[in-house]
Amino acid sequence: MEMNYKFLKLEIDEDKYKKYGNKNLELQLLELPEKIQFCKKCIGSNQRPRTEFDSEGVCAACRYAEKKFNGGIDWKKREHELEELLDKHRSKDGSWDVIVPSSHGKDSALVSHQLKAKYGMHPLTATWAPYIYTDIGFQNYFNMTHRGFDGLVAWPNGYLHRKLSRVVFELKGDPFEAFVYGQKAYPFQLALKFNIPLIFYGENGEVEYGGSYKNENKSHETPEDWEKSYYKGAGFDTVLKEGFNMGIISEEELNDNNFDFYRAPPMNEIKKLNLQMHWWSYYKPWVPQENFYYASKNTGFEPRHERTDGTYTKSFSIDDMLDPYHWYLAYIKFGYGRATREACSDIRCGHISREEGVALAQRYDHEFPQTYFKEFLEYLDITEEHFRKVIDRYRLPHVWQKENSKWKRTKIVSNSSLEGETPKVE
Ligand SMILES: [Zn+2]
Repeated sequence: MEMNYKFLKLEIDEDKYKKYGNKNLELQLLELPEKIQFCKKCIGSNQRPRTEFDSEGVCAACRYAEKKFNGGIDWKKREHELEELLDKHRSKDGSWDVIVPSSHGKDSALVSHQLKAKYGMHPLTATWAPYIYTDIGFQNYFNMTHRGFDGLVAWPNGYLHRKLSRVVFELKGDPFEAFVYGQKAYPFQLALKFNIPLIFYGENGEVEYGGSYKNENKSHETPEDWEKSYYKGAGFDTVLKEGFNMGIISEEELNDNNFDFYRAPPMNEIKKLNLQMHWWSYYKPWVPQENFYYASKNTGFEPRHERTDGTYTKSFSIDDMLDPYHWYLAYIKFGYGRATREACSDIRCGHISREEGVALAQRYDHEFPQTYFKEFLEYLDITEEHFRKVIDRYRLPHVWQKENSKWKRTKIVSNSSLEGETPKVE
């Protein structure tokens, strides 16, 4: 598609901005162990926040994968649970009975399609629009709705959305966080609006990729869970306040907009509806590669023609031009890139060996996402020099060192040592 996007200059109070200085609200960086360690089975490292290794040096996500594929989970029983749940919610008159938060990528496409075709449900797909749609992302959206799906897309105020992304890029080292607030809140809002007490997500990321295992044997989250995880801590309102303090959000913008798209709806309303949010990955073994084949066959999903910058894949998270900068900033902060993350999943699913994973990570992790860099800079209204200055604030001394005035990681994943090796070139 030939598009002519016009990005207005972001009006910023320069005096306030200069006075504010460099604040870092990315608290995860304070908790990273200084001694880098890699998993014995996959290529993940202990620099991924909340990652834990057991006494044999294996990460929790790998241990979960063993259970998942080797008989540790009774999938028949879970299938039965799924049928029971859906029987309870299925509408008789064709009205929507389940909300599927969906980018219309391969994973959410599979969930929506199975709910409808296999289980006779009536899904409404809820899409929080990407910052800037890629051609392939929009095409996949279009083709899926034309296979028989209803969908709603939320487009927040684009000018303010850019400002919020700029704030989180500077304060948290992640331009994507503004997107994430809306992505999480929007399905909740639709559930209340249309009185649909069931939301179905794809995978439980914490369980599949490492993090908290308290929900390992849980099919869903309830309002009580959200009270702890979603309604407390440095959330959207902190970002908004700091955005104002740093002169990026003006007083008028602060007071004359409701920002409701970014906030969770009132807890008492969610409780009244008895809203539940389930994970497909609790009921079925989650294999992203299989999801790709399924979505290609059933929903018209197509991958990119070329591999994505910074990795070896063509079909993961391909709908947003700005998405690669989320992964690149994770690489700066934690020392591992997008190829590592995707290879970990492929190793756990048995598609590639650890050695192949190491080779892919060494080859692609450090590759700069050049393809949409111009759009990224325009979107945030910053120069390349400013971009470099901000990202350098997020490099930890145990992850990065300067050599001949060039940044180089201290350790990268290796076949010979679980403590990694020094990279030759970056
Ligand atoms: Zn592992």
